[in-house]
Amino acid sequence: MPEVKEIEILIIGGGPAGLSAAAAAADLGASVLVLERDGKPGGQLVKQTHKFFGSKKQYAGDRGYQIGNLLIDRCQNNPKVEVWTDTTALGIYEDGVVTAEGQGKHLKIKPQKTIVATGASEKMIAFPNNDMPGIYGAGAVQTLMNVHGIVPGQRVLMIGAGNIGLIVSYQLMQAGVEVAAIIEAAPAIGGYLVHASKIRRAGVPILTSHTIREAYGQESVEGAIICRLDEQWQPIPGTEQDLKVDVICLAVGLSPLTELCFQAECQMKYVPELSGHVPLRSESLETTRPGLYVAGDVSGVEEASSAMVEGRLAGISAAYSLGYGNEAAAKLQAEALAELSELRSGPAGQKTVQGIKKLMDKEEAAC
Ligand SMILES: Cc1cc2nc3c(=O)[nH]c(=O)nc-3n(C[C@H](O)[C@H](O)[C@H](O)COP(=O)(O)OP(=O)(O)OC[C@H]3O[C@@H](n4cnc5c(N)ncnc54)[C@H](O)[C@@H]3O)c2cc1C
Repeated sequence: MPEVKEIEILIIGGGPAGLSAAAAAADLGASVLVLERDGKPGGQLVKQTHKFFGSKKQYAGDRGYQIGNLLIDRCQNNPKVEVWTDTTALGIYEDGVVTAEGQGKHLKIKPQKTIVATGASEKMIAFPNNDMPGIYGAGAVQTLMNVHGIVPGQRVLMIGAGNIGLIVSYQLMQAGVEVAAIIEAAPAIGGYLVHASKIRRAGVPILTSHTIREAYGQESVEGAIICRLDEQWQPIPGTEQDLKVDVICLAVGLSPLTELCFQAECQMKYVPELSGHVPLRSESLETTRPGLYVAGDVSGVEEASSAMVEGRLAGISAAYSLGYGNEAAAKLQAEALAELSELRSGPAGQKTVQGIKKLMDKEEAAC
């Protein structure tokens, strides 16, 4: 039987939410262990080469990977924080023990408090041949190009004109890959117009009210049939176009990675505005399972800026509940809550605000 590692606060996931939680809890004096399944912490930030939007307080204007490095440095420079990379949390049990797999070993950890900051996974859409080689999620394309220096192909069809679809299209073009078109099922572009304008200026059509009918090819993708949608989102016969592409990239949204929350029996609710099933939680981000907190995209898909503030809030709250910080912690909690409302006060934050309201609405059933 493996030995049990005891720790005050365990954080699952070393993205912007998890690293911010670790630094905040350790600054108050708590001992923290972060589990990260990748070889390097940083989460989505490690592959973001563009300058971030958002608020200056959350490093807007810096490139994503630079923000990731700042957070990693903060944790590395704090002797209260341990980070185990290449370590995947597998389960959270009734007695509070968390099991993990790391460096070929089965590990057991007994934390006093746990923060789940596992982020989100990419969504897929159904169409004939969607399992063919050459079909990627946008995150996978970014990892290939920006982490490993490999382009996915020569000519790409991008599906989805949200910020991720627009940014990854631009990065493909910067890497010398042709983007044949960006198609979007909604009647309007979902991402920021500043990103869309850059793409259009480069001559790439952004076709709203369009979808993919099918991918085709022998061994791998050789093309895609796209078509226009009517106001009821139904394909309009006769509007099909055949695009010769060797890559189809899906940027159709993310779903919170909540398996561990389900397994830990947190009360969950499906909230479309938060992109899927998310755990009910208090203002300080504690779920219905006492001592288990959530932060970042796992609690509702949003942005790195809010993930960092939620991480800080969860870290402070967990440390505070262990008796660290006292009045200072209460003040820091209030500051983080005020920062979150400020971040969500603009038009982009309204969806999250509505989602959280729905989540906490006692009238609507949870599962
Ligand atoms: C193309 C793109 C562009 C973006 N641009 C911006 C932008 O300009 N501004 C902005 O604010 N946001 C932007 N975002 C969004 C931002 O990257 C995310 O909202 C943010 O990274 C969420 O942080 P997180 O810590 O919750 O999750 P993540 O960054 O996804 O981190 C979660 C971490 O948990 C780890 N993990 C998961 N499960 C386990 C497990 N079982 N055990 C151990 N580890 C686990 C993962 O490996 C990962 O490292 C962008 C995202 C994308 C994809």
